[in-house]
Amino acid sequence: MTQPVNHHHADGADEPPLTMFGPDFPFAYDDWVASPEGLGSIPESARGTEVAIIGAGLSGLVAARHLARLGLEPVVYEAERIGGRMRSERFDGYDDDIVAEMGAMRFPPSSTTLYHYLNELGLDTAPFPNPLSEATPSTVVDLKGQAHFARTVNDLPQVYRDVAAAWDATLADHADAAELTDAIRRRDAARLRNVWGRLVERLDDQTFYGFLTDSDHFRSFRHREVFGQVGFGTGGWDTDYPNSMLEILRVTCTAADDHHRGIVGGSDQLPMRLWDTPFGEDGVSVKDLNGGAPRPAVTAIRRTSRAGGYRYTITDAAGEIRSYDAALFTGQAWMLLNTIDCDDDLLPIDHWTAVERTHYMGSSKVFALVDRPFWKDVDPTTGREAMSMTLTDRMSRGTYLLDHGDDRPGVVCLSYTWSDDSLKLLPLDANARMDLMLKSLGEIYPDVDIRSHIIATPKTVSWETERYFMGAFKANLPGHYRYQERLYTHFMQDRLDERHRGFFLAGDDVSWTAGWAEGAIQTALNAVWGIVHHLGGATAPGNPGPGDVFEQIAPIRLGDERGTRI
Ligand SMILES: Cc1cc2nc3c(=O)[nH]c(=O)nc-3n(C[C@H](O)[C@H](O)[C@H](O)COP(=O)(O)OP(=O)(O)OC[C@H]3O[C@@H](n4cnc5c(N)ncnc54)[C@H](O)[C@@H]3O)c2cc1C
Repeated sequence: MTQPVNHHHADGADEPPLTMFGPDFPFAYDDWVASPEGLGSIPESARGTEVAIIGAGLSGLVAARHLARLGLEPVVYEAERIGGRMRSERFDGYDDDIVAEMGAMRFPPSSTTLYHYLNELGLDTAPFPNPLSEATPSTVVDLKGQAHFARTVNDLPQVYRDVAAAWDATLADHADAAELTDAIRRRDAARLRNVWGRLVERLDDQTFYGFLTDSDHFRSFRHREVFGQVGFGTGGWDTDYPNSMLEILRVTCTAADDHHRGIVGGSDQLPMRLWDTPFGEDGVSVKDLNGGAPRPAVTAIRRTSRAGGYRYTITDAAGEIRSYDAALFTGQAWMLLNTIDCDDDLLPIDHWTAVERTHYMGSSKVFALVDRPFWKDVDPTTGREAMSMTLTDRMSRGTYLLDHGDDRPGVVCLSYTWSDDSLKLLPLDANARMDLMLKSLGEIYPDVDIRSHIIATPKTVSWETERYFMGAFKANLPGHYRYQERLYTHFMQDRLDERHRGFFLAGDDVSWTAGWAEGAIQTALNAVWGIVHHLGGATAPGNPGPGDVFEQIAPIRLGDERGTRI
């Protein structure tokens, strides 16, 4: 069953739930898309106008579907396959719902806009087996050669509970956690802007690691080490230690790392359904509007003119050249630097700087298909499962066990790594990676012959070497807030010189919460508002969009000098 998206009523709780509302731009995207008034309208003269959508990932397809609904013609370009980083691989000869999720695999219910689309398109979700979660029969935490078996955090040695308490106390003392989360729960935009603005000023220059070392609760180096391994939510956050502390706070204060659910049938089902499910009464889909397939990779975007304004002239890998009044780019921003030949005039110079400074985390995953969920076999002497969800400081770092039923093959995510841990795997092919992970796991589970259960060639990915990605997701470094603010607010184009209007950016890079699909969707919705506005359209008075209320809730702008705002 897909989760409810109603943020007004918590399930049995006294207070409204945490959602990915702000904190930087507290706009209720979930309410906006759910309103029966729709996202707006365009003038009759603009009906049928073609808009180039570059990238058929989640953000490109959310935008395409809404624009099509409003009477525009989205022309979709895709360099690889529909879905982008919602990439589910299937194993030849096995059922389609048995997937290896190479990109996004777990979605917090606080992603209320994402769940709106899951519900609309009839997709189900199921609890994801994260460390120590209720959906996970057991977890093994293995650090420095010592493995601990646990069903809940209370089964772990005292140091783990001390570290969890130190983190809560640090957030309370140094990140206004109570005030922040209360303002998000109550959707009190003014209060949220106030408390978050103070945190932005104070913490934009701070790393996650520096934030911990500054806290008395983390005086102990050992605690910082353990926290990096197990930490909060999904664990393994030490690879984020060099990132801006604001990136971490955005995750914790919006519950993005809690209560994850997976999409039944594969994460790629969402972009696929956005693409091929009819959106109107006449039964037409975005796929139909595109003649059944996207156009190939974009190779050049030029600014050209026509009477009364500018256009965008786009060349694709097949050599076809077409011109549009508006274009939306949704790929990783580095593609604008090294893959697509772009006119300088596409963006103001400060935005180009922001694009150039974009920083990505790398990420690798290794998956194996196994004959059955053998890990559930209980050892009669210990009463424990043969194998558990595993967090370790060995090469595999995070191992997830995906159960498709006792009499069906299971999927083991042998390893999910980020940053340096992902780089360590780059030279190795899929089988070498599998061997390495089986060696790590063999040290933790000496009596389990995992290899004897493997029934297909392993599947692996390293996003940093993927031609059209070059990274898994953006991760801002300290001092990057100003760049982020520019990219996110770029959809407000009346403020830009006319020659820069009509080219829009959306997607994970533009999002405040990169690495979370909800953020990418929010930026797509900003672009929808921007494109409608650019083409002379407007929102319904009863359902104002992000651009209509922008001035009241705009992200704060930091000045040049520390402690100043513009
Ligand atoms: C390893 C990993 C794990 C993740 N885990 C989660 C998770 O558990 N939960 C969650 O919510 N989110 C997760 N995410 C983030 C989530 O996948 C993204 O936020 C979301 O899929 C991004 O969608 P997008 O449309 O912005 O970008 P993309 O999906 O990257 O789409 C952009 C598209 O543009 C295409 N493109 C690039 N260049 C060109 C060109 N020149 N011409 C035409 N097309 C081009 C690309 O091929 C791609 O299909 C994860 C991401 C990764 C990589």
